[in-house]
Amino acid sequence: MFGLGMPELLIILVIALLVFGVGKLPQIGSSLGGAIREFKKSVESPEKEVPPAPIKEIACSQCRRPLQNDWSVCPHCGTKREA
Ligand SMILES: [Zn+2]
Repeated sequence: MFGLGMPELLIILVIALLVFGVGKLPQIGSSLGGAIREFKKSVESPEKEVPPAPIKEIACSQCRRPLQNDWSVCPHCGTKREA
């Protein structure tokens, strides 16, 4: 494809080494890898950015046991729930 073979790729690599310098190549590679990782994370799990809705804890005024939102009477002691 595009007439590029292994020799041409090697020449491009050598030119890249000459342009950026041998010491900078790992730096470029790691920053590129980090950018790809960040991109993949944002694509795979966009819903994780949204924090979960806080659960409201309601306790019985008499026995202090946790009550569910739709309970109007405490099942443990029979006390009516206060608004
Ligand atoms: Zn109770």
